[in-house]
Amino acid sequence: MIGDVELFCLVNNSRVTPMKMLAVTGSNGKSTVVSLLAYIAKAIGVNAALAGNIGEPILDLLQSEGVDDIQHSNQPETIIVELSSFQLETLSSMQAIAASMLNLSDDHLDRHKTLANYQAIKQSIYSQAKIAVVSREDQASNTLVVAQDTISFGLDKPDQGHFGLNVIDNKQVLMFGEQSLISLDALPLAGMHNALNYMAALALGYSAGWSLSAMTENLTGFVGLAHRCQRVISTDDIQWINDSKATNVGATLAAITGLAPTLLAKDKLILIAGGDGKGADFTALTTILNCDVNQLITLGKDGAEIAELVSDAIQVNTLTEAVDQAKKIAEPGDMVLLSPACASIDMFKNYQVRGEQFITAVQAKEVSCR
Ligand code: ADP
Repeated sequence: MIGDVELFCLVNNSRVTPMKMLAVTGSNGKSTVVSLLAYIAKAIGVNAALAGNIGEPILDLLQSEGVDDIQHSNQPETIIVELSSFQLETLSSMQAIAASMLNLSDDHLDRHKTLANYQAIKQSIYSQAKIAVVSREDQASNTLVVAQDTISFGLDKPDQGHFGLNVIDNKQVLMFGEQSLISLDALPLAGMHNALNYMAALALGYSAGWSLSAMTENLTGFVGLAHRCQRVISTDDIQWINDSKATNVGATLAAITGLAPTLLAKDKLILIAGGDGKGADFTALTTILNCDVNQLITLGKDGAEIAELVSDAIQVNTLTEAVDQAKKIAEPGDMVLLSPACASIDMFKNYQVRGEQFITAVQAKEVSCR
C-alpha cells in the first residue's frame, strides 16, 4: 500500500525536471510553517504550491502529465509539502531538497501505539531529504538524523550557518550565525514557539537557495492562521484567545508558555481544555496548570482526566457553558484561553467548528441560562 504523496514522488522523480520539494512534519506548527513558507515564496517571486496535509491534493499537481519541462508548463517550481505521520507511514521515495521535523509531542497514539513508533515514523522524513533542518530545542525530533547536511534552529545563540536568537539592545533578535535578521517584537506571530517556526521556515527557504534578506523582509506580512492563538474581538476588556487547533498536549504547553508571561501579575489566566485526547498522557501539563493557570475549566471525553491534574477544576458539559463560567470569573485584563490539548471530534465536526462556537459564545451578549 502506498499513499498519494508516495505516488506523486514516484512520478515526480521520473521527470526530466522534477518539481523541487520542501517538506515539513512535527507534532505542532506544520501548517504555520508551510503557510509562512508559501507566503514568503509568493512574496519573493518563487512559483510554489502548498500540498500534502494542507492545500491542494498533491496528485492534482501532476495534471499536465507528460510535460517534463517546467519552463513550458504551469507546474510549480517548488512544492511545499506538509506531512502528517499518517502520510509518512506510506512514503519512502521523496527526494526533498530539505525537510524538517519541528518537534515531538504525545499525539495520535491511538494509531501509532507508542511514542517511539510515532517518533520513528516522523523522523523518516530525514532520510528522504538532502538537507535536514533540525531543532536544537527538541532533541527527540532529531535522533535518527544520519550523516547529511544539517541546518539547525533554536532559541540560543547560533553557530555559523545556523539559526537562533541573540539579545541585542535588550531585544531578542533572529540570527543567522553572526548576522542579525529581525527583532522578534517586529514579527506578528508571538511566543517562542513561533520564533522557532520563523526560523524553520527561513532555514527551509535558505536550503532552496532563496535570498535570506528577501525572505526576512517579507516575514512581517504573514499574520498567521485562524484558530491558532487568535484573539477574539470582544467588548468586555477580557482577552479571549481561540487556540482550538491545539489538539495535543505540546500545543497547549506552547500556548500557555507563550501567553502567560504577557499577563500582568494581577491578571488571571483561565484555561478551557478537554476533548478527545487520542490516548495521550496529560501529566506533562501538571506543572503549568498548577503554576500558570488560575482557573481550569474542562469539558469533553477526557475533560475529567485533565481536571484531576489540579484541585479546583470546573467541569462542564458544553463549550457554551465553559464560556459562561469563564465570563462569571473573568475580570478586565484577564485572559481566557481555549487551548484544549485534545481533538474536537468527540463533540464537534472539527477544530474549526469548535473555534467558531467559542467565538460565538464569547460574543453572545448575555450569559445564557440553563
Ligand atoms: P499543525 O499543522 O502541526 O497541527 P499548526 O500550525 O496548525 O500545526 O498549529 C497547531 C497548534 O500548535 C496551535 O495551537 C498552535 O498555536 C501550536 N503551535 C504552533 N507552532 C508550534 C510549535 N512550534 N510548537 C508547539 N506548538 C505550536
